[in-house]
Amino acid sequence: MNRLALSDFLSDFRHYVFHLNEYRELLGLQDSMRKNLTKFCESANQIVGDQWLKHRSEMANVSSLVSAYRSVEWHSENYRETIPFTSKKDLRENIAAYLNPKYSRDQLWLRPTSGTTGKPLTSYYSPEFFMEFQVYILIKFAVRLGILNESILSRDVFCAALQGGDNFPNRVWPCPGDIVGLILRPTIRDQDELSLNRFFEVVEKRPPAIISSSPRILKYIAERASISQRASFKDVAGFISCSSELSDDLRQFIECVFETPVYDSYGLSEVGPVAIECHLKNSMHILHEQVLVEVERSDGLVAQEGEGEILVSSVYNDAMPLLRYRTGDIGTVEYGECNCGFQGYSIKKLDGRVLKNFRFGSFEYSPKGLGNLTSLFPIDEFRISQVESMKLLVEVQYGKRTDGLLQKVEDYLKDRMECEVHIEVQRVEFDEVKKHSRYQFLEGL
Ligand SMILES: [Zn+2]
Repeated sequence: MNRLALSDFLSDFRHYVFHLNEYRELLGLQDSMRKNLTKFCESANQIVGDQWLKHRSEMANVSSLVSAYRSVEWHSENYRETIPFTSKKDLRENIAAYLNPKYSRDQLWLRPTSGTTGKPLTSYYSPEFFMEFQVYILIKFAVRLGILNESILSRDVFCAALQGGDNFPNRVWPCPGDIVGLILRPTIRDQDELSLNRFFEVVEKRPPAIISSSPRILKYIAERASISQRASFKDVAGFISCSSELSDDLRQFIECVFETPVYDSYGLSEVGPVAIECHLKNSMHILHEQVLVEVERSDGLVAQEGEGEILVSSVYNDAMPLLRYRTGDIGTVEYGECNCGFQGYSIKKLDGRVLKNFRFGSFEYSPKGLGNLTSLFPIDEFRISQVESMKLLVEVQYGKRTDGLLQKVEDYLKDRMECEVHIEVQRVEFDEVKKHSRYQFLEGL
């Protein structure tokens, strides 16, 4: 392999930051990470039946180290009934109960998240998990997508994980173990032409094989790329959408602009990646090597298949093991065999709950199309309540001050209603909002 040296990249793109100490720490873990990757490749098409049978012993070993899960009766026949639920609120209020005493706090990597369902919370990662999450996971995705060929392996830049915040801004990491090229974390802020143009320059000179980001940022770069810039995206093998729901319209739009496939994925900063689409894009296959997914059905039953709130259990990040973590996302999980060779559980549909319509006199409006408000605007969460027969109260939560945001949301909604509905938009801080309670209806209409 004849790849570009890090120093050459840094002299071409001076706004990127390389931290030697971070890299040294990652480097020390490369042997175990390589083993993990090999295991993933070998087991990528392993058949998974009952997920608890697969995960029981490792879940027991790791989770019993933290005080929050000491009461689980792993040796009992009915151990599943003794596993408690874990909420975001639990983590916010008592994080110490979920941290593995094996690590001291200064050994851990941490990531405060804006949170799509409530106030921010901080996730703690073991160094190994951090490296997996930031560096190796995109290699795994490429394996599952079947796009990891010789040309991609020899690319100067393997991936660009675009972000809007200040989480390791403009970092560059050489891949420990030199399996693939450089890993970038470009920061792209709304309305910041400089950050956008700098990214376009990287794509033109050193095209990444994979670009991953939230639907909102992917949409922003697709909208802002000029015809000449679009041509330089031709070497990108795939876009991976993460962090929030990708609507069909938006996927089509981005694919149409760049003539490159967009793959959807599902993950949480608290547990890392959970599922990703294969190249057939039928459903998101669960990453059985590292997570166990269940649903809490509307009748209260916890099951590995069906529709309900998605619960995730994972001890892959042994610094902060989580069991039956309530994601606040509604989805449908199905067992089956995919033509790509995967046989196991897949998330078929996220936010698949059948929603009622808002009714304004004789006019009805389906809130279905509003799920992507968080991708269209820089907001973290929202709730729309019908408070009078012809009035909607729209509560939105967002981090930094954004001029005119409330007005823009109001204008957007008014545009879509097609009838005279009074809309009031307010900024709020939610305590906890589950996606299925985003819409509140007036009874009796
Ligand atoms: Zn598949």
